[in-house]
Amino acid sequence: MSWNTVIGLEVHSELNTRTKCFCGCKNEFGNKPNTNCCPVCTAMPGALPVLNRDAVERAILMGLAVGCRINNYSVFERKNYFYPDLCKAYQISQLEYPLCVGGGLEIELEDGTKKFIRLNRIHLEEDAGKLIHSARGTMIDYNRGGVPLIEIVSEPDMSSAEEAVAYLEKLRSTLLYVGVSDCKMQEGSIRFDVNISVNRDGEPLGTRTELKNLNSFRAVLRAIKYESNRQIEELEAGHPIIQETRRWDDEKGKTYSMRTKEDSQDYRYFPDPDLIPLEVTNEYIESIRAKLPKLAPQRVTEYIAMGLTEQDALLITQERAYADFFENVLSYFNEPKFVCNWITAEVFKKLNALEVDDRKITVQPKDLAEMLRLYKDGEINQAGARKIFDVLWDGGTEPSKLVESLGLKQMNDTGALTEVLQKIVADNPKAVAELKAGNEKTMAFFVGQAMRATQGKANPKLVGEIVKELIK
Ligand code: ADP
Ligand code: MG
Ligand code: ZN
Repeated sequence: MSWNTVIGLEVHSELNTRTKCFCGCKNEFGNKPNTNCCPVCTAMPGALPVLNRDAVERAILMGLAVGCRINNYSVFERKNYFYPDLCKAYQISQLEYPLCVGGGLEIELEDGTKKFIRLNRIHLEEDAGKLIHSARGTMIDYNRGGVPLIEIVSEPDMSSAEEAVAYLEKLRSTLLYVGVSDCKMQEGSIRFDVNISVNRDGEPLGTRTELKNLNSFRAVLRAIKYESNRQIEELEAGHPIIQETRRWDDEKGKTYSMRTKEDSQDYRYFPDPDLIPLEVTNEYIESIRAKLPKLAPQRVTEYIAMGLTEQDALLITQERAYADFFENVLSYFNEPKFVCNWITAEVFKKLNALEVDDRKITVQPKDLAEMLRLYKDGEINQAGARKIFDVLWDGGTEPSKLVESLGLKQMNDTGALTEVLQKIVADNPKAVAELKAGNEKTMAFFVGQAMRATQGKANPKLVGEIVKELIK
């Protein structure tokens, strides 16, 4: 009998509040080490934490976006552990009474079917400091200590590496739509822990291992494949799986045991006596719900109503930044299909060449709109449009001036084009015969020749018409 893979994910996402979770220090990445610190986040004796209302609001906002139930009553607890990334020797977190429970996300599988991944909970906690290992030793930066985090815990509902990545992409996209985190994998503002086990049909869930140090979707994909194979091999060799935390080594493409898995008892959780339980009224929750921005499904519906196919609408709403850009371009040039085609083909080609974190559209919506209008009006052809787009992407502006300076104005002059084509037709009797015999593909040859003769400026549609006329 074949093996099933079972995956549950824990995602930590830093909230983009102005200040930290329990003090007034700046929540900012990339500052000089240990400059955003105070007695509270460095645990000086007698310092008292004060909960950041913004962090609570953002956590609730995300909870509402994924259909969680928001608990009116939740409790901050101390998760005790001794490690130098944490001055207090405990992390303020939530265990028994988390802020949000339930909910879930729908993912699209490769075969086009949809699958609902249930969430167990979303709770609010603080981040730890950052250890920087160097040849001289380990240095500690406490700027990150006390930054608000939400931990989003899924049920073990995923059954392949591809499903896990689809879930993570959807979750990241949702966080970006809601606008509560900047989700930079390289900066660690979104981090994933993967829990994985294997079993056979009808068997109870197997013993799981937890993988750490996954900081790209590619790493998640590879790590899950490696780890499920490793577990299967162990079990088939008659060795039991040990519940443990394992580290993914991206260079070697393997997982290594770090430590046996700790249970919640190991952390001696108890309610933080410095923080009163968090009580949120239904009115307060509803006032936050009213701030929910328009999410992807609603935009998909709107875009289909504008005339996009469902597939295009899904593509362009993958990320809020793309959907926003699309709408911005439309505000200057209201041709939804035409604009969408350019974005999903040309813009996505540029973006896909970049790392996920770096995928930023660098063209001004107004410039793209202007370029597309020139293209649609036949002032430039596709080759010209692509050339201008390249320049705009690299920081250029004013497409109509670029048409002049780059000499891209499309040749729409029938007389001049006829002259060019007369020569091409005369020089290529074989191609003419083929075209006459009904081989429509030969037309591409004539268009290519005409482009070559006009430095790419010929209007291809006009070329087709003239050639047909000439060979009559
Ligand atoms: P902990 O906080 O100790 O890591 P949780 O009970 O909160 O433990 O579960 C963490 C994650 O492990 C959840 O995402 C859950 O879906 C997943 N999980 C639990 N059991 C299994 C299993 N047998 N196989 C794979 N994942 C599992
Ligand atoms: Mg865990
Ligand atoms: Zn502080």
